[in-house]
Amino acid sequence: MDFKKYIASIPDFPQPGVLFRDITPLMSDGEAFHAATSEIQKFAEQVGAEVIAGPESRGFIFGCPVAANLHIGFVPVRKPGKLPRETISYRYDLEYGSNELHMHKDAITPGQKVLIVDDLLATGGTVQATIKMIEELGGVVVGCAFLIELEGLKGRDALAGYEVFTLMSYE
Ligand code: 5GP
Repeated sequence: MDFKKYIASIPDFPQPGVLFRDITPLMSDGEAFHAATSEIQKFAEQVGAEVIAGPESRGFIFGCPVAANLHIGFVPVRKPGKLPRETISYRYDLEYGSNELHMHKDAITPGQKVLIVDDLLATGGTVQATIKMIEELGGVVVGCAFLIELEGLKGRDALAGYEVFTLMSYE
């Protein structure tokens, strides 16, 4: 399937100079949404994922259907103040300011094989923070799957040594 047909490119969103890749047209087309999650599901099976972790909020949209189809669990990776029980966190720098992500402390069992799913790989900061937390909890990251890779931002370099799957890429 030509997945790019279902991605809208929005100039200057959310700020001037950014070309935002909008995945909502893909989500609202039933066949495209099913095809995209099926591809990620095949990768999840290949790498033997036992649980899926997805960063807020678009990682939920693509990670949850895959987890449910495979009868495996889904672990949300969230911004501060959202998870109600004890968490671990990881803070990372952005071009302007910083971001912090959290996971419940008991979300992963030691040795569990984890696949990270998100909509888009840009600099890799989000997925790296997620990897750090999973590994701190004793999980084994068996892969990282994205719909879209923005090649110019070199996120794949930040993921050296990890299996990376993407459905489409832009310069
Ligand atoms: P990174 O941490 O790799 O620099 O950025 C990836 C994160 O930012 C992902 O969680 C993704 O949802 C979000 N993101 C950054 N740019 C875009 C974009 O152009 N489109 C979408 N859909 N998400 C983006």
